[in-house]
Amino acid sequence: MSCVRATQWDVVVVGAGPAGAALARCLRPRHRVLLLDRPQAGAAGASRIGESLPGAARALLRRQRAYERFLAQGHVQRGASVSQWESDTPVWFDPVRDPHGAGWHLDRPRFDAGLREGALAAGAALAPTVRQLAVAHEGHEGHEGGRWRVDVECLAQGGRAPSRQTHRTPVLVDASGRSMAVARRLGLERRGQDRLVCLYAHLPPDDSDEDQATRLCADANGWWYSVRVPSGQRVLAFHLDADDAGIKALRDPARLLARAQRHRLLAEIRPATMDFQVHAQPAGGGGLDPDATAALPDGFFAIGDAMLSFDPIASQGLFNALATADSCAQAIGGYLDGDRDARQRYLDGMRSVQERYRQRLADTYAAVTRHARERFWLRRSGGAA
Ligand SMILES: Cc1cc2nc3c(=O)[nH]c(=O)nc-3n(C[C@H](O)[C@H](O)[C@H](O)COP(=O)(O)OP(=O)(O)OC[C@H]3O[C@@H](n4cnc5c(N)ncnc54)[C@H](O)[C@@H]3O)c2cc1C
Repeated sequence: MSCVRATQWDVVVVGAGPAGAALARCLRPRHRVLLLDRPQAGAAGASRIGESLPGAARALLRRQRAYERFLAQGHVQRGASVSQWESDTPVWFDPVRDPHGAGWHLDRPRFDAGLREGALAAGAALAPTVRQLAVAHEGHEGHEGGRWRVDVECLAQGGRAPSRQTHRTPVLVDASGRSMAVARRLGLERRGQDRLVCLYAHLPPDDSDEDQATRLCADANGWWYSVRVPSGQRVLAFHLDADDAGIKALRDPARLLARAQRHRLLAEIRPATMDFQVHAQPAGGGGLDPDATAALPDGFFAIGDAMLSFDPIASQGLFNALATADSCAQAIGGYLDGDRDARQRYLDGMRSVQERYRQRLADTYAAVTRHARERFWLRRSGGAA
Protein backbone atom coordinates (compact mmCIF):
# COMPACT_ATOMS: atom_id res chain seq x y z
CA MET A 1 0.00 0.00 0.00
CA SER A 2 1.49 3.41 -0.87
CA CYS A 3 -1.07 5.89 0.47
CA VAL A 4 -4.27 5.21 2.42
CA ARG A 5 -7.82 6.22 1.47
CA ALA A 6 -9.19 7.74 4.68
CA THR A 7 -8.21 11.31 5.52
CA GLN A 8 -9.79 11.98 8.96
CA TRP A 9 -7.94 10.55 11.97
CA ASP A 10 -7.84 10.82 15.75
CA VAL A 11 -4.04 10.59 15.72
CA VAL A 12 -1.43 10.89 12.96
CA VAL A 13 2.02 9.55 13.90
CA VAL A 14 5.02 10.51 11.77
CA GLY A 15 7.56 7.66 11.99
CA ALA A 16 6.78 3.95 12.24
CA GLY A 17 9.99 2.99 14.09
CA PRO A 18 9.82 1.34 17.54
CA ALA A 19 8.29 4.40 19.25
CA GLY A 20 5.68 5.23 16.61
CA ALA A 21 4.65 1.60 16.11
CA ALA A 22 4.36 0.97 19.86
CA LEU A 23 2.26 4.12 20.27
CA ALA A 24 -0.09 3.14 17.44
CA ARG A 25 -0.51 -0.29 19.09
CA CYS A 26 -1.33 1.31 22.46
CA LEU A 27 -3.93 3.66 20.90
CA ARG A 28 -5.83 0.93 19.08
CA PRO A 29 -8.67 -0.05 18.97
CA ARG A 30 -10.07 3.04 20.66
CA HIS A 31 -8.66 5.59 18.23
CA ARG A 32 -8.28 5.88 14.46
CA VAL A 33 -4.51 5.99 13.92
CA LEU A 34 -2.45 6.69 10.81
CA LEU A 35 1.29 5.93 10.74
CA LEU A 36 3.43 7.70 8.15
CA ASP A 37 6.93 6.58 7.22
CA ARG A 38 9.38 7.29 4.46
CA PRO A 39 10.65 4.72 1.94
CA GLN A 40 13.37 2.55 3.50
CA ALA A 41 16.66 2.49 1.62
CA GLY A 42 17.65 -1.03 0.49
CA ALA A 43 19.16 -3.18 3.20
CA ALA A 44 19.74 -0.30 5.63
CA GLY A 45 17.68 -2.05 8.32
CA ALA A 46 19.84 -5.16 8.12
CA SER A 47 22.92 -3.28 9.31
CA ARG A 48 21.10 -1.16 11.88
CA ILE A 49 22.90 -0.72 15.17
CA GLY A 50 21.24 -0.66 18.61
CA GLU A 51 20.61 -4.21 19.81
CA SER A 52 20.66 -4.20 23.62
CA LEU A 53 17.28 -4.19 25.32
CA PRO A 54 17.25 -4.05 29.14
CA GLY A 55 15.12 -6.46 31.17
CA ALA A 56 13.02 -3.51 32.38
CA ALA A 57 11.38 -3.51 28.90
CA ARG A 58 9.65 -6.82 29.73
CA ALA A 59 6.85 -5.14 31.71
CA LEU A 60 6.26 -2.57 28.95
CA LEU A 61 6.12 -5.19 26.21
CA ARG A 62 3.61 -7.16 28.29
CA ARG A 63 1.44 -4.12 28.92
CA GLN A 64 1.52 -3.26 25.22
CA ARG A 65 0.46 -6.84 24.39
CA ALA A 66 3.62 -7.26 22.32
CA TYR A 67 5.50 -9.76 24.53
CA GLU A 68 4.33 -13.02 22.88
CA ARG A 69 5.26 -11.77 19.43
CA PHE A 70 8.57 -10.51 20.82
CA LEU A 71 9.44 -13.89 22.41
CA ALA A 72 8.78 -15.69 19.12
CA GLN A 73 11.33 -13.55 17.28
CA GLY A 74 14.48 -15.37 18.35
CA HIS A 75 16.20 -12.66 20.37
CA VAL A 76 18.96 -13.92 22.63
CA GLN A 77 18.95 -13.42 26.39
CA ARG A 78 21.80 -11.16 27.45
CA GLY A 79 24.68 -12.84 29.22
CA ALA A 80 27.29 -11.23 31.41
CA SER A 81 29.02 -8.00 30.51
CA VAL A 82 32.63 -7.10 31.10
CA SER A 83 34.09 -3.63 31.08
CA GLN A 84 37.34 -1.73 31.41
CA TRP A 85 35.83 1.59 32.32
CA GLU A 86 36.84 3.05 35.65
CA SER A 87 40.17 1.22 35.49
CA ASP A 88 42.13 -1.17 33.29
CA THR A 89 41.07 -4.09 35.46
CA PRO A 90 38.14 -5.89 33.79
CA VAL A 91 34.94 -5.81 35.86
CA TRP A 92 32.26 -8.46 35.25
CA PHE A 93 28.53 -7.89 35.72
CA ASP A 94 26.18 -10.85 35.90
CA PRO A 95 22.58 -10.15 34.70
CA VAL A 96 21.30 -12.19 37.66
CA ARG A 97 22.01 -9.04 39.66
CA ASP A 98 19.58 -7.01 37.52
CA PRO A 99 16.35 -6.61 39.56
CA HIS A 100 14.33 -6.51 36.30
CA GLY A 101 15.80 -9.78 35.04
CA ALA A 102 18.14 -10.34 32.11
CA GLY A 103 17.66 -8.26 28.99
CA TRP A 104 18.22 -9.31 25.37
CA HIS A 105 20.53 -8.97 22.39
CA LEU A 106 18.04 -8.21 19.67
CA ASP A 107 17.69 -9.22 16.10
CA ARG A 108 17.08 -5.54 15.46
CA PRO A 109 15.38 -5.69 12.02
CA ARG A 110 12.95 -8.30 13.41
CA PHE A 111 12.29 -6.31 16.54
CA ASP A 112 11.39 -3.16 14.56
CA ALA A 113 9.32 -5.13 12.04
CA GLY A 114 7.48 -6.99 14.83
CA LEU A 115 6.36 -3.77 16.51
CA ARG A 116 5.13 -2.43 13.18
CA GLU A 117 3.26 -5.67 12.42
CA GLY A 118 1.66 -5.49 15.89
CA ALA A 119 0.36 -1.98 15.16
CA LEU A 120 -1.07 -3.02 11.81
CA ALA A 121 -2.65 -6.17 13.27
CA ALA A 122 -4.34 -3.95 15.86
CA GLY A 123 -5.90 -1.88 13.04
CA ALA A 124 -3.57 1.10 12.60
CA ALA A 125 -3.18 2.29 8.99
CA LEU A 126 0.26 2.78 7.46
CA ALA A 127 1.47 4.90 4.55
CA PRO A 128 5.08 3.66 4.26
CA THR A 129 6.37 5.63 1.28
CA VAL A 130 5.94 9.28 2.25
CA ARG A 131 8.60 11.30 0.49
CA GLN A 132 7.30 14.78 1.27
CA LEU A 133 5.50 16.05 4.30
CA ALA A 134 4.06 19.43 5.31
CA VAL A 135 2.24 20.17 8.56
CA ALA A 136 0.16 23.16 9.63
CA HIS A 137 -2.15 23.90 12.52
CA GLU A 138 -5.60 25.08 11.54
CA GLY A 139 -6.24 26.49 14.96
CA HIS A 140 -8.66 28.61 16.86
CA GLU A 141 -7.53 31.48 19.01
CA GLY A 142 -5.49 30.24 21.99
CA HIS A 143 -4.65 27.16 19.92
CA GLU A 144 -7.27 25.06 21.68
CA GLY A 145 -9.53 22.67 19.85
CA GLY A 146 -7.85 23.18 16.47
CA ARG A 147 -6.84 20.54 13.99
CA TRP A 148 -3.60 19.62 12.28
CA ARG A 149 -3.41 19.47 8.55
CA VAL A 150 -0.84 17.00 7.20
CA ASP A 151 -0.05 17.07 3.48
CA VAL A 152 1.87 14.09 2.17
CA GLU A 153 3.25 13.01 -1.13
CA CYS A 154 3.83 9.28 -1.50
CA LEU A 155 6.33 7.67 -3.82
CA ALA A 156 5.19 6.80 -7.32
CA GLN A 157 4.60 3.06 -7.69
CA GLY A 158 4.10 0.76 -10.68
CA GLY A 159 4.59 3.54 -13.22
CA ARG A 160 1.90 5.71 -11.57
CA ALA A 161 2.38 9.36 -10.66
CA PRO A 162 3.23 10.19 -7.02
CA SER A 163 0.02 10.45 -4.97
CA ARG A 164 -0.78 13.45 -2.79
CA GLN A 165 -3.13 13.48 0.16
CA THR A 166 -4.27 15.81 2.91
CA HIS A 167 -5.00 14.30 6.32
CA ARG A 168 -6.68 16.05 9.26
CA THR A 169 -6.30 15.16 12.89
CA PRO A 170 -6.58 16.73 16.36
CA VAL A 171 -3.36 14.96 17.45
CA LEU A 172 -0.05 14.97 15.59
CA VAL A 173 2.88 12.98 16.96
CA ASP A 174 6.55 13.27 16.02
CA ALA A 175 8.06 9.76 16.23
CA SER A 176 10.59 10.34 13.45
CA GLY A 177 13.64 9.66 15.60
CA ARG A 178 16.71 11.87 15.69
CA SER A 179 15.62 13.66 12.51
CA MET A 180 12.69 15.26 14.45
CA ALA A 181 10.98 15.74 11.09
CA VAL A 182 7.81 17.37 12.48
CA ALA A 183 9.31 19.30 15.40
CA ARG A 184 11.85 20.91 13.08
CA ARG A 185 9.14 21.90 10.62
CA LEU A 186 7.37 23.58 13.54
CA GLY A 187 10.51 25.54 14.43
CA LEU A 188 11.81 23.47 17.38
CA GLU A 189 15.49 22.61 17.75
CA ARG A 190 17.36 19.81 19.47
CA ARG A 191 19.20 20.95 22.56
CA GLY A 192 22.13 19.43 24.34
CA GLN A 193 23.34 17.47 21.34
CA ASP A 194 27.03 16.56 21.42
CA ARG A 195 28.99 15.56 18.34
CA LEU A 196 29.49 11.91 19.15
CA VAL A 197 29.83 9.59 16.15
CA CYS A 198 29.59 5.82 16.14
CA LEU A 199 31.80 3.89 13.74
CA TYR A 200 30.47 0.37 13.58
CA ALA A 201 30.66 -2.87 11.66
CA HIS A 202 28.81 -6.17 11.66
CA LEU A 203 31.67 -8.68 11.48
CA PRO A 204 31.01 -11.92 9.56
CA PRO A 205 30.11 -14.89 11.81
CA ASP A 206 33.06 -16.82 13.18
CA ASP A 207 32.09 -20.42 14.11
CA SER A 208 34.74 -20.62 16.79
CA ASP A 209 33.43 -17.48 18.54
CA GLU A 210 31.21 -18.64 21.42
CA ASP A 211 31.58 -15.55 23.54
CA GLN A 212 28.22 -14.32 24.90
CA ALA A 213 29.51 -11.33 26.85
CA THR A 214 29.01 -7.67 26.06
CA ARG A 215 32.48 -6.09 26.01
CA LEU A 216 32.92 -2.41 26.80
CA CYS A 217 36.10 -0.40 27.14
CA ALA A 218 37.24 3.18 27.40
CA ASP A 219 39.89 4.42 24.96
CA ALA A 220 41.80 7.72 25.08
CA ASN A 221 39.66 8.95 22.14
CA GLY A 222 36.28 7.47 23.01
CA TRP A 223 34.82 4.10 23.91
CA TRP A 224 34.20 0.68 22.36
CA TYR A 225 31.71 -2.08 22.66
CA SER A 226 31.36 -5.42 21.03
CA VAL A 227 28.79 -8.17 21.24
CA ARG A 228 27.55 -11.10 19.17
CA VAL A 229 23.99 -10.66 17.86
CA PRO A 230 21.42 -13.41 17.07
CA SER A 231 22.45 -13.54 13.37
CA GLY A 232 25.88 -14.81 14.54
CA GLN A 233 27.55 -11.58 13.42
CA ARG A 234 29.56 -9.61 15.92
CA VAL A 235 28.95 -5.89 16.32
CA LEU A 236 32.10 -3.86 16.80
CA ALA A 237 31.48 -0.19 17.59
CA PHE A 238 33.75 2.74 18.41
CA HIS A 239 32.24 6.02 19.68
CA LEU A 240 34.38 9.10 19.19
CA ASP A 241 34.17 12.79 18.41
CA ALA A 242 33.03 13.87 14.95
CA ASP A 243 36.16 16.05 14.64
CA ASP A 244 38.61 13.33 15.73
CA ALA A 245 41.56 13.46 13.33
CA GLY A 246 41.61 9.65 13.00
CA ILE A 247 38.00 9.17 12.01
CA LYS A 248 38.56 8.98 8.27
CA ALA A 249 41.28 6.34 8.53
CA LEU A 250 39.15 4.23 10.88
CA ARG A 251 36.50 3.83 8.16
CA ASP A 252 38.95 1.23 6.83
CA PRO A 253 37.93 -2.22 8.22
CA ALA A 254 41.51 -3.40 8.87
CA ARG A 255 42.40 -0.23 10.74
CA LEU A 256 39.26 -0.28 12.85
CA LEU A 257 39.88 -3.89 13.82
CA ALA A 258 43.57 -3.30 14.56
CA ARG A 259 42.73 -0.34 16.78
CA ALA A 260 40.14 -2.41 18.67
CA GLN A 261 42.60 -5.27 19.17
CA ARG A 262 44.89 -2.98 21.17
CA HIS A 263 42.44 -3.43 24.03
CA ARG A 264 42.76 -6.55 26.10
CA LEU A 265 38.99 -7.17 26.07
CA LEU A 266 38.80 -6.93 22.28
CA ALA A 267 42.13 -8.53 21.37
CA GLU A 268 40.59 -11.92 20.61
CA ILE A 269 38.07 -10.63 18.04
CA ARG A 270 38.94 -12.33 14.79
CA PRO A 271 36.25 -12.17 12.07
CA ALA A 272 36.07 -15.11 9.66
CA THR A 273 36.80 -12.72 6.77
CA MET A 274 37.59 -9.05 6.33
CA ASP A 275 34.58 -8.69 4.07
CA PHE A 276 32.68 -6.07 6.05
CA GLN A 277 31.94 -2.36 5.87
CA VAL A 278 32.47 0.30 8.50
CA HIS A 279 29.45 2.60 8.86
CA ALA A 280 29.35 5.98 10.58
CA GLN A 281 26.31 7.30 12.41
CA PRO A 282 25.71 10.39 14.55
CA ALA A 283 25.17 9.11 18.08
CA GLY A 284 25.12 12.11 20.44
CA GLY A 285 22.22 12.44 22.82
CA GLY A 286 19.91 15.44 22.95
CA GLY A 287 16.28 16.33 23.20
CA LEU A 288 13.44 18.77 22.75
CA ASP A 289 12.97 21.49 25.32
CA PRO A 290 9.69 20.62 27.11
CA ASP A 291 8.86 24.33 27.55
CA ALA A 292 9.32 25.09 23.85
CA THR A 293 7.24 22.02 23.03
CA ALA A 294 4.48 23.16 25.40
CA ALA A 295 4.35 26.51 23.54
CA LEU A 296 3.26 24.78 20.31
CA PRO A 297 -0.43 24.45 19.54
CA ASP A 298 -2.39 21.81 21.44
CA GLY A 299 -2.35 18.30 20.14
CA PHE A 300 1.35 18.13 19.23
CA PHE A 301 3.38 15.40 20.98
CA ALA A 302 6.86 13.92 20.49
CA ILE A 303 8.06 10.47 21.57
CA GLY A 304 11.13 8.22 21.37
CA ASP A 305 14.33 9.73 19.98
CA ALA A 306 12.38 12.72 18.61
CA MET A 307 11.64 13.73 22.22
CA LEU A 308 14.90 12.58 23.80
CA SER A 309 17.73 10.62 22.19
CA PHE A 310 20.18 8.93 24.54
CA ASP A 311 23.93 8.63 24.27
CA PRO A 312 24.41 4.93 23.37
CA ILE A 313 26.44 4.39 26.58
CA ALA A 314 23.08 4.57 28.39
CA SER A 315 21.62 1.71 26.31
CA GLN A 316 18.18 3.20 26.99
CA GLY A 317 16.93 4.33 23.56
CA LEU A 318 14.62 1.42 22.86
CA PHE A 319 13.33 1.30 26.41
CA ASN A 320 12.61 5.02 26.11
CA ALA A 321 10.82 4.44 22.79
CA LEU A 322 8.47 1.93 24.47
CA ALA A 323 8.10 3.94 27.67
CA THR A 324 7.29 7.24 25.94
CA ALA A 325 4.81 5.41 23.67
CA ASP A 326 3.09 4.15 26.81
CA SER A 327 2.90 7.46 28.65
CA CYS A 328 2.09 9.45 25.50
CA ALA A 329 -0.80 7.08 24.70
CA GLN A 330 -2.27 7.87 28.11
CA ALA A 331 -1.76 11.60 27.59
CA ILE A 332 -3.37 11.48 24.13
CA GLY A 333 -6.33 9.49 25.50
CA GLY A 334 -6.79 12.14 28.20
CA TYR A 335 -6.41 14.99 25.72
CA LEU A 336 -9.00 13.55 23.33
CA ASP A 337 -11.34 13.14 26.32
CA GLY A 338 -11.04 16.87 27.01
CA ASP A 339 -8.29 16.92 29.65
CA ARG A 340 -6.37 20.08 28.61
CA ASP A 341 -3.54 19.43 31.11
CA ALA A 342 -2.72 15.99 29.77
CA ARG A 343 0.10 17.19 27.49
CA GLN A 344 1.65 19.36 30.18
CA ARG A 345 1.78 16.37 32.57
CA TYR A 346 3.42 14.28 29.85
CA LEU A 347 6.02 17.01 29.22
CA ASP A 348 6.68 17.38 32.97
CA GLY A 349 7.41 13.65 33.06
CA MET A 350 9.80 14.05 30.11
CA ARG A 351 11.58 16.91 31.90
CA SER A 352 12.35 14.69 34.90
CA VAL A 353 13.56 11.87 32.63
CA GLN A 354 15.90 14.33 30.88
CA GLU A 355 17.26 15.65 34.17
CA ARG A 356 17.93 12.16 35.59
CA TYR A 357 19.52 11.04 32.33
CA ARG A 358 21.86 14.07 32.13
CA GLN A 359 23.07 13.56 35.67
CA ARG A 360 23.67 9.85 35.17
CA LEU A 361 25.47 10.45 31.88
CA ALA A 362 27.79 13.03 33.43
CA ASP A 363 28.59 10.57 36.26
CA THR A 364 29.27 7.74 33.78
CA TYR A 365 31.78 9.77 31.77
CA ALA A 366 33.35 11.32 34.86
CA ALA A 367 34.14 7.81 36.17
CA VAL A 368 36.83 7.37 33.49
CA THR A 369 39.53 9.22 35.39
CA ARG A 370 42.52 7.57 33.70
CA HIS A 371 41.78 9.45 30.44
CA ALA A 372 40.49 12.59 32.15
CA ARG A 373 43.02 14.85 30.39
CA GLU A 374 42.10 13.65 26.89
CA ARG A 375 39.92 15.92 24.79
CA PHE A 376 37.09 13.41 24.35
CA TRP A 377 36.71 12.97 28.11
CA LEU A 378 37.35 16.62 28.98
CA ARG A 379 34.49 17.63 26.70
CA ARG A 380 32.13 15.32 28.50
CA SER A 381 33.16 16.40 31.95
CA GLY A 382 32.61 20.07 31.05
CA GLY A 383 36.37 20.72 31.03
CA ALA A 384 37.03 21.86 27.42
CA ALA A 385 35.39 22.81 24.15
C1 LIG B 1 25.21 4.05 17.70
C2 LIG B 1 23.92 3.77 18.39
C3 LIG B 1 23.79 2.66 19.22
C4 LIG B 1 22.60 2.42 19.88
N1 LIG B 1 22.50 1.33 20.69
C5 LIG B 1 21.36 1.12 21.37
C6 LIG B 1 21.24 0.00 22.23
O1 LIG B 1 22.13 -0.84 22.35
N2 LIG B 1 20.08 -0.15 22.93
C7 LIG B 1 19.06 0.74 22.79
O2 LIG B 1 18.04 0.58 23.48
N3 LIG B 1 19.13 1.78 21.96
C8 LIG B 1 20.25 1.99 21.25
N4 LIG B 1 20.31 3.04 20.37
C9 LIG B 1 19.15 3.92 20.21
C10 LIG B 1 17.95 3.29 19.49
O3 LIG B 1 18.32 2.74 18.25
C11 LIG B 1 16.90 4.39 19.30
O4 LIG B 1 16.67 4.99 20.56
C12 LIG B 1 15.58 3.88 18.75
O5 LIG B 1 15.74 3.43 17.42
C13 LIG B 1 14.55 5.02 18.79
O6 LIG B 1 13.35 4.61 18.22
P1 LIG B 1 12.43 5.71 17.50
O7 LIG B 1 11.23 4.97 17.01
O8 LIG B 1 12.24 6.86 18.41
O9 LIG B 1 13.29 6.27 16.28
P2 LIG B 1 13.82 5.50 14.99
O10 LIG B 1 14.14 4.10 15.30
O11 LIG B 1 14.89 6.36 14.44
O12 LIG B 1 12.57 5.50 14.00
C14 LIG B 1 12.15 6.69 13.37
C15 LIG B 1 11.25 6.34 12.20
O13 LIG B 1 10.81 7.57 11.62
C16 LIG B 1 10.92 7.51 10.22
N5 LIG B 1 11.10 8.87 9.68
C17 LIG B 1 12.16 9.69 9.83
N6 LIG B 1 11.94 10.85 9.16
C18 LIG B 1 10.72 10.75 8.59
C19 LIG B 1 9.94 11.60 7.76
N7 LIG B 1 10.39 12.80 7.36
N8 LIG B 1 8.73 11.18 7.35
C20 LIG B 1 8.26 9.97 7.70
N9 LIG B 1 8.96 9.11 8.49
C21 LIG B 1 10.17 9.49 8.91
C22 LIG B 1 12.14 6.61 9.98
O14 LIG B 1 12.11 6.02 8.67
C23 LIG B 1 11.96 5.56 11.09
O15 LIG B 1 11.15 4.47 10.68
C24 LIG B 1 21.50 3.31 19.70
C25 LIG B 1 21.61 4.41 18.85
C26 LIG B 1 22.81 4.65 18.21
C27 LIG B 1 22.92 5.86 17.31
